[in-house]
Amino acid sequence: MVNILIDKEVCIGCGLCVHDCPMKVYELKDGVSTVINPEDCMACLSCHEICPSNAIEHRDIYLSRRLYVDLEVCSMLRRFI
Ligand code: SF4
Ligand code: SF4
Repeated sequence: MVNILIDKEVCIGCGLCVHDCPMKVYELKDGVSTVINPEDCMACLSCHEICPSNAIEHRDIYLSRRLYVDLEVCSMLRRFI
């Protein structure tokens, strides 16, 4: 399972990761982002790109899962990205 770490010292509680994550992995609690569903993460890494504080770290991402997601997306679009 993907291990997601939030640096609560640098998170500014903007909520962008909460709204951007397609799998509803985050929730704001006490003004900082908190991981509530790590098992649902599909490793798209959108949260990394959107976080203005660089507060999010993912560990143990398996490339095979990422490839599986990409293949699914390609299949839906009926073309290779
Ligand atoms: S990598 Fe994607 S699915 Fe995982 S927590 Fe970030 S936005 Fe959500
Ligand atoms: S996007 Fe970054 S700074 Fe904003 S709530 Fe999420 S972890 Fe915190």
